[in-house]
Amino acid sequence: MVTAEAVVDLAALRNNLARLKSCQPDSKMVAVVKGNAYGHGSVEVSRALNEWVDSFAVARFEEAVVLRHAGISKPIVLLEGCFDQDETDQAIALNFQPVIQNDEQIAWIRQSLVTEKTNFWLKVDTGMHRLGFSLEEIADKHRELLKLAAVDSFVGFVSHLSCADEQDSSRTDEQLAHFIEATKTLVGPRSLANSAALLTRRDIAFDKARPGIALYGVTPFAGRCGQDEQLEPVMTLKSKLIAVRDHKKGEPVGYGGLWQSQSDTRLGVVAIGYGDGYPRTMPTGTPVLVNGRKVPLVGRVSMDMLTVDLGAQASDRVGDEVILWGKGNPVEPLAERVGTIGYELLIQLTSRVKRTYIESAS
Ligand SMILES: *Cc1c(COP(=O)(O)O)cnc(C)c1O
Repeated sequence: MVTAEAVVDLAALRNNLARLKSCQPDSKMVAVVKGNAYGHGSVEVSRALNEWVDSFAVARFEEAVVLRHAGISKPIVLLEGCFDQDETDQAIALNFQPVIQNDEQIAWIRQSLVTEKTNFWLKVDTGMHRLGFSLEEIADKHRELLKLAAVDSFVGFVSHLSCADEQDSSRTDEQLAHFIEATKTLVGPRSLANSAALLTRRDIAFDKARPGIALYGVTPFAGRCGQDEQLEPVMTLKSKLIAVRDHKKGEPVGYGGLWQSQSDTRLGVVAIGYGDGYPRTMPTGTPVLVNGRKVPLVGRVSMDMLTVDLGAQASDRVGDEVILWGKGNPVEPLAERVGTIGYELLIQLTSRVKRTYIESAS
């Protein structure tokens, strides 16, 4: 029997892509599928989007190799570039598009003996101050790269926004101005928008946009849900009741005996826990859907189980379906309860959760 299961709705995924395209119709879409497609399964997600996107983007070389080996032939951008000579050689041969963010990476391309060519992106540090070259360095680095034998048809420009999820951030305005300034006299495709910018800033429409979280139906904005941006949740995290028990008033439940019932009730035990990626810190009162009805999580989440208060009148049975997040129970407010963001809850699902793929636009 499948217990902990992440049901991934590929039709919802494509609807979200269409919604994002409509925000910036003139930009090509680079689907960000790093982190196993934010926990959704990068191969299945990439196959489902392949026909509709320009290219894919991942954070690490190994993530791109997984996609190539699965038959994904579109360009794959390496958002942080290559981390040594060997990766550089293979990346060129596999037609990945590495982002160049330091001088070591340029040296590895120059020293490469591989005869194939590919395209590259130059990272402009417009204000995030993690990776990239300063505004003053960009023209020189661009010229230097264009001379290399491994460069195919272009060296484009990317930068990443640090505050695009904040309303009217002056930092975003500043980063945009810096990006324009650094690249205005140079020839090559440009890419700046993440999900947040794509959804709210038409002035940040360049050649290519790089949405991640919004593809999966989750909002990047605090205090909101995907639905508020007309996005549909792609993942529904499910499990099942493995016990339904009578529980007396005043009795505790679970580790630490943290919660005691105020009255006689029925408790449901659900086969999912922090060993699956459902946070141990999720507090009593967090909504869980049982047979379509919201009931509170009670007591401490354990490794393999959690408990819910079904109510004295409950007629739920062993084997009944439980939805932890997704359709009908958005992940964003749950993340807020444990001091994090939807991104982290999605990506921290463990390999014990079975991913299942469906096509059902609701
Ligand atoms: C992760 C990432 C994105 C996507 O960001 P979202 O907020 O998920 O849309 C875009 N660009 C870069 C460089 C990234 O690392």
